Amino acid sequence: LSLGAGTPARADARSLNDYFRSDALLVLKCLLLQRQSPAKWAALLEMQSHEEERRGTELHVEAEKRVVSYLQQRFLGRLKKTKPNLLQDCGPELLHRLCGIIETNFMVIELPTGVELSGLFRQACMMEHACQPNCDFQFDPITQQISVRAGCNLRKGDHLRITYTNILWGTHLRQHHLRLTKHFSCRCSRCLDPTEYGTYISALACLGDVNKTCAGTHLPVDPLDENTQWKCDTCPMLVDGAYVSELQTHMTEQVDNLMAGCPSANQVELLLARLSQILHPNHFHTFNLKHTLIQLYGNETGLELGGLSSGQLERKLRLCDELYNVCRRLDPHSIKLAIYVTVILIEIAHTREEQARRAPGEGSRFLELAQARLKEAEVVLEKELESVAGKKLYDQLQKEIFECEKQMLTLTYNQK
Ligand SMILES: [Zn+2]
Ligand SMILES: [Zn+2]
Repeated sequence: LSLGAGTPARADARSLNDYFRSDALLVLKCLLLQRQSPAKWAALLEMQSHEEERRGTELHVEAEKRVVSYLQQRFLGRLKKTKPNLLQDCGPELLHRLCGIIETNFMVIELPTGVELSGLFRQACMMEHACQPNCDFQFDPITQQISVRAGCNLRKGDHLRITYTNILWGTHLRQHHLRLTKHFSCRCSRCLDPTEYGTYISALACLGDVNKTCAGTHLPVDPLDENTQWKCDTCPMLVDGAYVSELQTHMTEQVDNLMAGCPSANQVELLLARLSQILHPNHFHTFNLKHTLIQLYGNETGLELGGLSSGQLERKLRLCDELYNVCRRLDPHSIKLAIYVTVILIEIAHTREEQARRAPGEGSRFLELAQARLKEAEVVLEKELESVAGKKLYDQLQKEIFECEKQMLTLTYNQK
């Protein structure tokens, strides 16, 4: 028996997936549990699969193509002929059910190497979802277990909530993702709030009408309805849901295309300027572009900190503040956004240190501001110390703190 020849191996992640077919292998591994561990097999089949809801969706079509017919043709069909009694059941219905179980219940776990896998956990998969979670989970590769940790102080009776989606997406995108993959509509307090805790992360700028421009903001009338109208908070203007969806899709393409090519600060600024005409400054697309920009200003060749104009330094600082405020409102305890927040805080510190170099008279004030931000980052990052990215960033942060203290000492020495 063989899985047949794969496509030629290339180095990028997508083609590795095509080559190793980990999606099909995971289903195959699940299937083999019926021989290897009847207890685990029974537990697996108890999990929700949403087979009915999946039928006819793009997920079902994809599963049919990539997993079900692939395994049937390459592997299970031959197995049936050569060893008909090896597996009791390996028909297409069961394979689709397994695909549904995996898609509905999988949790992303990270290995110490940084490789991310899909894991199925009987109890943890039952945890409640919210778009502002109060818990997060970690995978322990030694015990092979998930541990759930509170990200803030909980009161007796509080529900423990993790998140099944990306909290940096706007409500409609999160809702779409949750409906498609988990088959439910979220009704958490963030989803019910058109401003999403005052972040305006989905909001659009009002274009006014032909006669008059408007500085207002469009918000969804019913945030839970995909087809809802969007109403301006300043003028009587209403925009159709279909138009907004089309706009979102178009912008997502533009942002994704730009980001895929390691853009320069200039390219990001150009797209940002274009999108800013139709989006609220905190919209998740502009958030994404701005988070890239703060890392380019000061680091890109030709845009090193020492070479930035004071206007560019001010801009970097302003962008950092905007991003920081959005993160704080969406995730006050940095349960999901610790890495994002740490990057922002480090960039603020870099800017303050540069200001100190330029104005030695005010140097100690600027350096104290920088140091406070780095110390804050140290606390924020505690939530991420078990992840590979978190550990790496923590090492960088320690160097940043050391460099900042060194700059403080040098300044004191020079002033004596
Ligand atoms: Zn929600
Ligand atoms: Zn308006």
